Amino acid sequence: MRAVICGAGIAGLALAGRLHNVLGWEVVVLEKAPRPRTQGYMIDFFGPGYDAAEAMGVLPWLEELSHPVSEAAFLDEHGRCRARLPYDRLARPLNGRLLSIMRPDLELALRERLSLAVGLRFGTGPARVDPGASGIRVTLTDGTTLDADLLVGADGLHSTVRAMVFGEEQRCLRYLGYQTAAFTFDDPQVHAELGDRFCLTDTVDRQMGLYALRDGRVAAFAVHRSADPRRPEDPRDALRREYGSLGWLVPRALAACPPSSQVYYDQVAQTDLPSWSRGRVVLVGDACQAVSLLAGQGASLAVAGAYVLADQLAGARRVEDALRGYERLWRPVVRDRQRAARRTARWFVPETARRLRVRRTALRFAGLPGAGRLAGVSPTGRQRPSLGQLATVPVRSA
Ligand SMILES: Cc1cc2nc3c(=O)[nH]c(=O)nc-3n(C[C@H](O)[C@H](O)[C@H](O)COP(=O)(O)OP(=O)(O)OC[C@H]3O[C@@H](n4cnc5c(N)ncnc54)[C@H](O)[C@@H]3O)c2cc1C
Repeated sequence: MRAVICGAGIAGLALAGRLHNVLGWEVVVLEKAPRPRTQGYMIDFFGPGYDAAEAMGVLPWLEELSHPVSEAAFLDEHGRCRARLPYDRLARPLNGRLLSIMRPDLELALRERLSLAVGLRFGTGPARVDPGASGIRVTLTDGTTLDADLLVGADGLHSTVRAMVFGEEQRCLRYLGYQTAAFTFDDPQVHAELGDRFCLTDTVDRQMGLYALRDGRVAAFAVHRSADPRRPEDPRDALRREYGSLGWLVPRALAACPPSSQVYYDQVAQTDLPSWSRGRVVLVGDACQAVSLLAGQGASLAVAGAYVLADQLAGARRVEDALRGYERLWRPVVRDRQRAARRTARWFVPETARRLRVRRTALRFAGLPGAGRLAGVSPTGRQRPSLGQLATVPVRSA
C-alpha cells in the first residue's frame, strides 16, 4: 500500500512513522517549506499525544530536547510578579507526564525516527488531486505525479488538501476572535532575567509570553483580541502596534523582533467540517481537528490522532472502513477539547481588569480554569478516554 502525506508537520511526520514502521506501507511526505523549520514556539506536551509518543518510542528524544520550566509567572508592567503557577503543580495530576518542547524540536524528533525509506520531499505540495476507482493521483506543484492508495491532508489549519477535496476554507474554520504570533530573538539580558520561568504579561486583552531557550535565544509568543481574522500585511508592524503599550520586557522583545518573514502570525481558529474523509482522502491534525492554542493540546492531539488513524488502518480490511473508524473514535475527543477551549478562552486572555484580578486570585488557589486547560482536566469533570481505550491494536512500542 502507498500513502502520500501532504505536510511534514507534527501530524504528518507522526503518521508517516506509523504507516511505514508498523504497517510496512510505502510513504511519501510532501512539505511546501523548502527545508525543516527552525523557528517556532514552545509547546506544552501532555495527554494522549504523550501516550502515543511513548508507544511510538519517540518519548526519550522528546525528553532530551525538552526545556525544564519551573513555573508560569505573570508579571506587571514593572516586572513585579502578580501571580504564579508552578509547573510541578500542573504536572502532578498528569503523574509528571508533561514536557515543554519547541515545535521545531518536536518535528525534529519525529523526523529523525523516520526510516530513510520514507520519501521526504521539501519545497512541494499538491497542485491537483484526481480520485480514481481504487486510488488517488496527485499532481505536484513541480508537475510530477504520484499514485497512492491513500492521500492524507496533514497540512495544518489552512490545509490545501481540504480546500481541494472538502470545500473552501471559510466553511471549515471557526474564528475565535484572537490573533497570535511567535518569534525568536537574541537578547542576553532578557534571557538571563527569564531563567527557567515561562514569563507572561499580566495584562488585559493581549498577552505576551517569553521563554529562555537553551541556545541563548528567547522565544516570544503573543496573543491578542481582534475582530478581524485577516493576517496583516506586515506582521512585525502589527505586533509593534498591538503590543507597543505593554511594559516590562516587551519593548525589548519588539525592538529585537526579526523581519516579518521570520514571524509566525495567524488567526486563532478551530476546524469544524462535517466529514474528515472523502473516498481515499483523509485529514489529520489541525487540518480537521484544530482545537487552537487556547486548548494547549493541538500538537498532542495531532500525534494521537495520527496514531489512532494508523491503528485503524492496521486493523481494518478496507481503507474506507478504517477512515470511518478513525473519525468515529477520535471526533468526540476533539469535539470535547474544542468546547473546553472555547469555554476557558476568557481566562487565557482576560477581557477586563476585573477578570484579570479574578484570574490572579484563582491562580493563588490553583483553581484557574486555564490550569485545567494545561493539565488536561475536563472542566466538566468527565473522564476522557485514554489512547489505550481507543486503540484496537494494543498500544505498544514500535
Ligand atoms: C502560539 C501557539 C502555541 C501553541 N501551543 C501549544 C501547546 O502548548 N501544546 C500543544 O499541544 N499545541 C500547541 N499549539 C498547537 C499546535 O502547534 C498545532 O495544533 C500543531 O502544530 C498541529 O500540527 P499539524 O501537523 O496538524 O499542523 P502544522 O504543525 O501546522 O503542520 C502542517 C505542515 O503542513 C505544511 N503544509 C501546509 N500546506 C502545505 C501544502 N500545500 N503542501 C505541502 N505542505 C504543506 C506546513 O508547512 C507544515 O509543515 C500551539 C499553537 C500556536 C500557534
